[in-house]
Amino acid sequence: MELRLYDTASREKRPFVPLDPGNVRMYVCGPTVYDFAHIGNARPVIVFDLLFRLLRHVYGADHVTYVRNITDVDDKINARAARDFPGLPLNEAIRKVTEVTANQFHSDTAALGSLPPTFEPRATDFVLPRLDGKADMVTLILQLIARGHAYEAGGEVLFDTQSMPDYGALSGRKLDEQLAGARVAVDAHKKNPADFVLWKQSSADEPGWDSPWGRGRPGWHIECSAMSAAYLGDVFDIHGGGLDLIFPHHENEIAQSRCAHGTSVMANYWLHNGFLEVEGAKMSKSLGNFVTIRDLLADWPGEVLRLNMLKMHYRSPADWTVKGLEESAKTLDDWYRVAADAPGEQPAPAIVAALLDDINTPLMIAELHALRGRAASGSESDRAAFAGSLRYFGFLSDTAAQWEARKQQARGVDAAKVESLIDERTAARARKDFKESDRLRDELVAMGVVLKDGKGADGKPVTTWEIAR
Ligand SMILES: [Zn+2]
Repeated sequence: MELRLYDTASREKRPFVPLDPGNVRMYVCGPTVYDFAHIGNARPVIVFDLLFRLLRHVYGADHVTYVRNITDVDDKINARAARDFPGLPLNEAIRKVTEVTANQFHSDTAALGSLPPTFEPRATDFVLPRLDGKADMVTLILQLIARGHAYEAGGEVLFDTQSMPDYGALSGRKLDEQLAGARVAVDAHKKNPADFVLWKQSSADEPGWDSPWGRGRPGWHIECSAMSAAYLGDVFDIHGGGLDLIFPHHENEIAQSRCAHGTSVMANYWLHNGFLEVEGAKMSKSLGNFVTIRDLLADWPGEVLRLNMLKMHYRSPADWTVKGLEESAKTLDDWYRVAADAPGEQPAPAIVAALLDDINTPLMIAELHALRGRAASGSESDRAAFAGSLRYFGFLSDTAAQWEARKQQARGVDAAKVESLIDERTAARARKDFKESDRLRDELVAMGVVLKDGKGADGKPVTTWEIAR
């Protein structure tokens, strides 16, 4: 079977043919690091991690290059730095905000079971020409000016959208439509209201770099054009990100990269994940349904979030619910029980086949349930196929005991305390002090623990426990 991917640019599912099977190249827009990532940010992280793992399976682990950038220059970062560290010089305050937030992001994405990308460049390292000669933003802007695609006006360098006849092709927006909707007065210095900023001046209290156009800082879009070219070349295979990035961000990345390099495409396949709602509503701080990955990880192991995300096809709108999380946790409980002690590191063919069809994760999960059925009643090889499929795609990273401990930790339950209360209760029951044993049971229930009383092989009472969901 061949890999087929839905390409936003051609609006069809197409067979995937890499430029170089020896080095398959993918770029995904990364976070702007000024605050905790929310659960909507987790969607591209998980989806493109799955594609990264699939590509590694098909082409070999050493034959895939995955770049996801970190945007560490942005006006939102400046505002956060001034707010959180008012006593520090701005540059130091900015460094604190971006370092702390990038570390949070890394620990969140690791908890979600995602592999680190091959390269994770930071925008601020690619503003000025580099000693290693990799692509940088200032050089790209100079190329755009030299080729007649950019101009200086009002202290900015702007991309001249009219210099590119097919500007707007990715999003399907026509330049005239954009003209009609634009507020001309605000953009008086622009040749065309759709023209966008490549470089802008910085005041003394804003971060800035000395450039041919004075001290300033880059626009957001040029960052990705520089960092993708630096690691993947002028043209590469896959560019990914959320649906909300198609316009203007990806449209403008394409315009910059193609016009600077004189190529007909920037990437051969454009993949976009759909929006995510929480409990049926658009996430917003005012609605109170704004959920960070960090909040969720306090209540659930990361694998529960991962499975819950993959139940929905990446291009569909997704509804994130507590009910869905509860079901995902139950499924993982069962999978751990069946497969945690089984060997296996490689995925079964049916699992790979599901993903080859445009990353069809709902089908993948249906196939996992089928495999689970065979593994529970079948041979060691069925168990290994099931366990290997789970492990290869970022699940079953623990032993069954570690999984239980992690769930308890996530729920804030102290396992040692639970065990000691159960021992006390067993002793109370043995001396027929049922009032005390009931009291201890109530205390455990209040901690979120469900008890199961049974008999051991020796006929003596045995109490097992789990966390209530
Ligand atoms: Zn980008």
